Amino acid sequence: MATQKRVWLFEEGDASMRDLLGGKGANLSEMSNIGLPVPPGFTITTEVCNDYYAASQTTPAGVMDEVNEALARVEAGLGKKLGDPANPLLLSVRSGAKFSMPGMMDTVLNLGLNDATAEAMIAQTNNPRFVYDSYRRFIMMLSDVAFSDESNKLSKHDFEHLFRDLKAEKGVTEDTDVDAEGLKELVTRYKEHVRKQAGRDFPQDVHEQLQAAIEAVWRSWNNERAFIYRRREHIPDEIGTAVNVQSMVFGNLGDDSGSGVAFTRNASTGANEIFGEYLVNAQGEDVVAGVRTPTPIADMKTDQAAIYNEFAAICARLEDHYKDMLDIEFTVERNKLFILQCRAGKRTGPAAVKIAVDMVNEGRIRKEDAVGRVDPNLLTQCLLPVIGSGTKYNVLARGLPAGPGAATGIAVFSADKAAELGKGGAGQRVILVRADTSPDDLKGMLAAQGVLTERGGMTSHAALVARGFGIPTVAGCSEIKVGEASFSANGTIIKEGDAISLNGTLGEVIEGTVPVEAATLTGEFGTFLSWADEFRTMGVRTNADTPKDTKLAIELGAEGIGLCRTEHMFFEGERRPAVQAMILAENDADRQVQLDILLEYQREDFRGIFEALNGMPATVRLIDPPLHEFLPSREGLIEEVAMLKAQGKSDVEKEHLLEAVEGMHEINPMMGLRGCRLSIVFPQIVEMQTRAILEGAALVIKAGGKAVPEIMIPLVGHVNELKFVRERLEATAKKVEQEQGISIPYSFGTMIEVPRGALTADEIAKEAAFFSFGTNDLTQMTFGFSRDDSDKFLKPYVAQKILPGDPFESIDQSGVGQLMEIAVTKAKQVRPDIKLGICGEHGGEPRSVAFCHHLGLNYVSCSPYRVPIARLAAAQAALGKSASDK
Ligand code: PEP
Ligand code: MG
Repeated sequence: MATQKRVWLFEEGDASMRDLLGGKGANLSEMSNIGLPVPPGFTITTEVCNDYYAASQTTPAGVMDEVNEALARVEAGLGKKLGDPANPLLLSVRSGAKFSMPGMMDTVLNLGLNDATAEAMIAQTNNPRFVYDSYRRFIMMLSDVAFSDESNKLSKHDFEHLFRDLKAEKGVTEDTDVDAEGLKELVTRYKEHVRKQAGRDFPQDVHEQLQAAIEAVWRSWNNERAFIYRRREHIPDEIGTAVNVQSMVFGNLGDDSGSGVAFTRNASTGANEIFGEYLVNAQGEDVVAGVRTPTPIADMKTDQAAIYNEFAAICARLEDHYKDMLDIEFTVERNKLFILQCRAGKRTGPAAVKIAVDMVNEGRIRKEDAVGRVDPNLLTQCLLPVIGSGTKYNVLARGLPAGPGAATGIAVFSADKAAELGKGGAGQRVILVRADTSPDDLKGMLAAQGVLTERGGMTSHAALVARGFGIPTVAGCSEIKVGEASFSANGTIIKEGDAISLNGTLGEVIEGTVPVEAATLTGEFGTFLSWADEFRTMGVRTNADTPKDTKLAIELGAEGIGLCRTEHMFFEGERRPAVQAMILAENDADRQVQLDILLEYQREDFRGIFEALNGMPATVRLIDPPLHEFLPSREGLIEEVAMLKAQGKSDVEKEHLLEAVEGMHEINPMMGLRGCRLSIVFPQIVEMQTRAILEGAALVIKAGGKAVPEIMIPLVGHVNELKFVRERLEATAKKVEQEQGISIPYSFGTMIEVPRGALTADEIAKEAAFFSFGTNDLTQMTFGFSRDDSDKFLKPYVAQKILPGDPFESIDQSGVGQLMEIAVTKAKQVRPDIKLGICGEHGGEPRSVAFCHHLGLNYVSCSPYRVPIARLAAAQAALGKSASDK
C-alpha cells in the first residue's frame, strides 16, 4: 500500500524525487520550479503502479479522487476544464519510470477530445483540420493501448489501414493532403471501427478516458518490450512507473508551430553543440516515432531565430543546473516555446567519455563525478569495430549516422526473422532492415549486428535505443525503398539473405561484406581511464595466453596476467600430435619423450609472455581441461571404424586410437579427470609445465629483464591435492634454479572454484600464497548448472523471474558470493596477507567487480577488451557510486 501522498503537482516535487515521481516527473517538477515554460500538470507516483498490480490490476481506491483534486488545480491555473464544451483542456498521459525506457511504455495525447469538445476547439482555433487530426490520433492511441486485448483487434496498424483506404479513395498519398472533411470522415470511421471490434462506443466521458489512459500506462510497465528492455538494462521489475498527466500544447497548429527533440551536446560524438531535430507543424510523437524524417535543429537558427535563441539559452541553463548533457523535448505552439521533458541524454560510449572529460575541464564537475557517471558497459563502444583501414567498398546509399560502429551481415526484413537467425537464435550475422522501427522491433534489434531504416531521425526512439546498446545503425536513409523482403538502393536490389554492411559512424550502406576491426583509442578515453585509476584501489589484470593478447591488454591498462590458461597453448596445430601422443602414451618413458617436445614450445611461450609483461606478474595455471578435449572425437572415430568394417577393411591404428579414446571417455567430464586431478595422475605434466614456466622466466631474467611467475593449481577441493602437487612442483623448481644458477621469484597458489575448496579455505590457505576465484566453475558447481548447456533453461528461468539474471554473467552474490566471502574470511584468518583475485568471466562485469571490491579482493582479471570496463567499475566501487547499478 502507498504510504504517502499519491499525486503531486509539478510545483510540489523536485529533481531528487526520482524514486517516487520517476525521472520524467521529477524533472518536470524541477523545471517548473526554476521557472522554465513547462505546461502545468501532475504526477501519479510509482508506488501507485505497484499498488495497481498488488490489487490484481485494479485502480487503488481513492486515487482517482486525488487525481481529480490535482486536475482541478491545473484547470484553475489555466482557466480551462477537461471536457468543458466551452473551453476544453486537453491532456497528455505519459509513463515515466525512475530510469528512462525510451518508447517502451505507452503514451496518450490529446485526451479530453470528444464530439462536443472537438466542436469547441474548432470554434476556438478556427482550424477544423487540426482538430480532426488531433481527434483521430487520440481515438487511435487510446484504443490501441486501452481497449485492444490480446487479439490486438484495435492495433494502431488497423487504424493506419483505415487511413490508407481513405487516402486511396481520395486519390492522395500523403497524410497532409487529406483535408478537414476527410479527417472528419476518418474520425467517424475510427469510431465505427471501435464499436465493431470492441463492441462498445469510444468513450465520450472524458473522466473515463483519463482513467483508461492511466491504467493503460500502468499495464504497459509489463508489456513485452518493456520487460526485455529492463532485463537488458538491469532495471528492477519492482520499481514501477509513474504516470505524468500534463496539459497539452500543440505543435501541429500550423507553420508557426512544431515539435523537436534536442540534446545539449552531440550524443554520438560528445561535441559541445546542440544536436537535435525539429519538425514543423507536428506533434512530438512524430519525431520520436521515427515515421517522418525531421530536419536538423541547426536549420531553426535561420528559420526561427528567436525561438532557437530562446531554446539555446534554456539548454545552457539546464546544463548549468543539472551539470550533465540533457535530452530535451520541446514544442512550439504559435511561436511560443514549451519544454515538455528533460532527462540525462542517452549517449554513445565515446560521447559519454568526451562529455565527462569536457565537463571536468569546463569546471562544472569534479573528476570523481566524471568517473562515477559513465556506465562501464558503455566503454565497449569506445572499442567498437570500424571498417578495416584501406578497404575499398561500394556505398549503395547514405543515411543518418544514428549508431556508430561497423557491422556486416545478411539482410533480414522483420524483427522476428532477426531474432530467429541472429544473436540468441541461429547465431548468424544479420542486419535488420526496416522502413521504420517501432519499439516492438527491440527483440530483433538486439539480435542484429546492425540496423538500417528508411525513415526516422537521429532522435527517434529506435536510434536512441540502438546507440544506447552500441548497435551500429543507419537511420532515415531515404535513398532506399524497403519492401516486404527486399530493398532497392539507387538501382541495386538487396534481397533477404544478401550480404550488406553498415558504417554507422558515417551513415553508409555498403554492398557485400567488409572486414571489420577494432577501433583505436581516443585521447579523452586515456585521460578518463587515468582518472578512474586515481580512485580505484583494486588491481586489474587480464586473462591472456599469448604475447599478442598480453600486449593488447597492457595497452588497455592491464597490470599483469591474472589467468594464463596453459592448455590453450596445446591446441595449436603442430603441437597437437605431441599432445595426443603424450596423452595416449602407454608408459612413462614414452610420455616423457612427448613432454620434452612440448617443453620446448611452452618455454618459448612463457618467455614471450614474460617479455611482454615487462616485470608485471603472471598467474600461470597448470593444465585444466579433461584430456579428451585434445583427442579426436569419439563419435567420429566410431563412425569411421564402422564404415571401414562395412567395406571389409580395417585400420589398426584407427582402431587402437578408438580404443584409447573409449578408455578416456567420461560421462561427465567437467566433473572428471581434470584440473589438479590430472596433475596427480600424471605428475610428469606438472614437472614439465613448472620447468617450462621457470626456464622461460630464467631466460628473461638472464637477459636483464624481470619475470614474476605465480604458478596456480586448478580445481582444488581438498588441501591434500594441493600438498601433493606442491611437493612435485617445488622439487622441480629447486632443480631448475640450481641448473640456471639463479633464484627465480615465483610463488605458488590455487584457484578456488570447487565449493569444498571455499569451505575449507583456512586449510588450503596454509599451502597457498594466493587464491584466485574461478567463478565459472564455482557457479557451475554451486548451482549444479552445466556451464556449457544451461542456456536452455537459464533463459526461461530469467524470463519467469526464477532467477534475477544469468549467474554465469553476473555473480550470484547471495549464493556463490557467500562461498567467496567464507573463503576470504577463512583464508585471512590463517594468512592475513594472502593475495586474492578473481579470474572467472565475472571479473569484467561491472556489478561483479563492485562485489569483489567489497569482498576486499586485490585484483580482478578479465579478457583484454574488458580491462577498461573493470578499471572503471573498480573506481566506481571505490567511490561508492555505480553508474550501471540499478
Ligand atoms: C573458472 O572456472 O572460473 C576459470 C577461470 O577457469 P576455466 O574457465 O578455465 O575453467
Ligand atoms: Mg575453472
